[in-house]
Amino acid sequence: MHQSTLTELSSALELKKISSEELTRMYIERCKKHNNSLNCFITISEESAIHKAKIADKKRASGDCTPLTGIPIAQKDIFCVNEIKTTCGSKMLSNFIAPYDATLVKRMDENGFIMLGKTNMDEFAMGSSNETSFFGPVKNPWNVSCVPGGSSGGSASAVAARLCPAATGTDTGGSIRQPASFCGITGLKPTYGRVSRYGMIAFASSLDQGGPMTQTAEDAALIMNVISGFDKHDSTSVDKKIEDYTKSLNNSIKGLKIGLPKQYFEENLNSEVADITEASIKELEKLGAKCIDVDLPNTELSIPAYYVVAPAECSSNLSRYDGVRFGHRCDNPKDLIDLYSRSRQEGFGKEVKRRIMIGTYVLSAGYYDAYYLKAQKVRQIISDDFKKVFKNVDILASPTTTGTAFQLNEKLNDPISMYLSDIYTVSANLAGLPAISIPSGFIDALPVGMQLIGNYFQESLLMNVAHQYQKVTDWHQKIPSGYQ
Ligand code: GLN
Repeated sequence: MHQSTLTELSSALELKKISSEELTRMYIERCKKHNNSLNCFITISEESAIHKAKIADKKRASGDCTPLTGIPIAQKDIFCVNEIKTTCGSKMLSNFIAPYDATLVKRMDENGFIMLGKTNMDEFAMGSSNETSFFGPVKNPWNVSCVPGGSSGGSASAVAARLCPAATGTDTGGSIRQPASFCGITGLKPTYGRVSRYGMIAFASSLDQGGPMTQTAEDAALIMNVISGFDKHDSTSVDKKIEDYTKSLNNSIKGLKIGLPKQYFEENLNSEVADITEASIKELEKLGAKCIDVDLPNTELSIPAYYVVAPAECSSNLSRYDGVRFGHRCDNPKDLIDLYSRSRQEGFGKEVKRRIMIGTYVLSAGYYDAYYLKAQKVRQIISDDFKKVFKNVDILASPTTTGTAFQLNEKLNDPISMYLSDIYTVSANLAGLPAISIPSGFIDALPVGMQLIGNYFQESLLMNVAHQYQKVTDWHQKIPSGYQ
């Protein structure tokens, strides 16, 4: 049963093949059994999950339910969940009990999902390997000496090992897509503003977006139906009608125009990843899509622009953790300044401090124009490049990452090479576009992902293309050995 997708679990519950309580207990046991080695959960909420599963079973019996009622999932530990520890992977919030639900959590709860626990993540979502978490690194179930990617590495690892059928993630520069690619699962970053950020702990507010991490595109559509839509608590959430994302999954992709950005197939790309991506694109051509080479000439500026804008916003967002308003407080401060500085020094890890320092620097008088303002201009140019290509194509296809999952500790002391691993993902965040990563092959028993980028609010088309691809391939059904 643990190999099932959300769609399959929904019908198993409907047909009374299993109860939500049995299902929840089965997943909790798997989580407890494998968490020692994978470290993908920070919190396993056994008691509340079983309590809610019992309620779900009653609701199903009385008919007061949705097709999702009683299905267990996991939440990235960046989402506030009422009365549950919400750490954001940081010592700063290691004992923070959230007093309310994030909108995404509330909507999933109202639709009947049962939360099994909170998944591990890079501290404040800053990282590409899950090694910056205060709670220790997460392991990749395909090879435990490799990273699962980050920052949503706990969610990716848990879904890949089938410790939960689906989970949520957040993507500021690739944190849903890159771990999805490294762990062989499906991950969608929606259009900026499509999913409410209320109750999702902020990293870089103009880039952050929550989304589903699932086995299939079909499951991503089920979760998107629940989590997307306007929220009055988030002023950047877009007041645009939500479509039923499952409706378009089976549309034919005959005649679909796919752009292949030439900059995404150059230099840094591992040649085997290139071959696999080309083979996957051929599959889409067999389904009737037409490919066109396109140009995103400013791609190489995306990493420098991102690593100015994201730290700038993080330095502002993280100023609230001062030991007074929020977060860890040091012992015996001698005065107010000592309280602030020691609380922050003790509460934040190295990568977070590096970002705060960069961010403060690029925003400071004298450097603002040279760095922050310039990065914002570059961001606009990158968005304009996409605007131009979407006049001629429907979606873009590329690898999600330059290579497969790297070794633990391989890049930890080399931040530049770590930052470069986001090269194919950050542009979509800078432009606010939706993008999905889907499993497309393996190299030496490690998964490879293909990325599809869409125009604004075209997530339904992305999931449609991904679903059509998943109907003719089985990469998404592969489960790492030891977890089958
Ligand atoms: N790896 C990128 C970073 O470290 C992206 C993180 C994310 O998307 N949350 O900032």
